[in-house]
Amino acid sequence: MFDVSINLHKVLEQLPDGVKLIAVSKFHPKEFIEVAYNEGQRIFGESHEQELSAKVRELPQDIEWHFIGHLQTNKVKYIAPYISMIEAVDTLKLLKEINKQALKNNRIINVLLELHIAEEESKYGFTFDDCRKLLEGDEWKQLKNVHISGLMMMASNTTDKVQVKNEMLLAADFFDEIKEKYFKDDPDFKERSWGMSNDYPIALEARSTMIRVGTAIFGPRIY
Ligand SMILES: *Cc1c(COP(=O)(O)O)cnc(C)c1O
Repeated sequence: MFDVSINLHKVLEQLPDGVKLIAVSKFHPKEFIEVAYNEGQRIFGESHEQELSAKVRELPQDIEWHFIGHLQTNKVKYIAPYISMIEAVDTLKLLKEINKQALKNNRIINVLLELHIAEEESKYGFTFDDCRKLLEGDEWKQLKNVHISGLMMMASNTTDKVQVKNEMLLAADFFDEIKEKYFKDDPDFKERSWGMSNDYPIALEARSTMIRVGTAIFGPRIY
């Protein structure tokens, strides 16, 4: 049997000060979340709106939910009332929709901009140049109900640790670049979300401030 509480503490023990764990609970039952919750874990990550909404109804109110998957604009309205952070903003259109729904709910929603650095797979995320273009424009500055808190990325799914680390360090350098240019006066632009079950130890060497770990805590997902 997978012991969620032992696994959770194994991960937590490795975290330096200032690094947060997002326990990725997608596809896992609420009972697993309750085990982690009872051990003190409060931040959970989900990537499907309906699954998340169902869990929110059944679980304690003080959980901070991070939406970590690709989010369709037509789903934003469902999570806007409660979501604590939307991690994978990959278009200006999505950013605008989050702003609109946040305003309706009289909130400011924290978001991360998702970078696309990995060679393969995901078609989501900004290239460095597209992200620069977005920030050079003025539109995002008008969006008073979203707060850009930092960057998120997924490294390539490879056993080549050097490559994984290099990709994460590129993201960290890019963070410094845009921090200096656009967020110098914003102490809350500070998050670097990278590191998953198979690469979080590397992420901790590559200036991550938020690791998103599922399998290593909850076991394999059953789809
Ligand atoms: C599922 C998922 C994770 C967690 O992956 P594990 O390999 O199970 O740790 C992290 N980030 C994102 C964006 C995910 O979709």
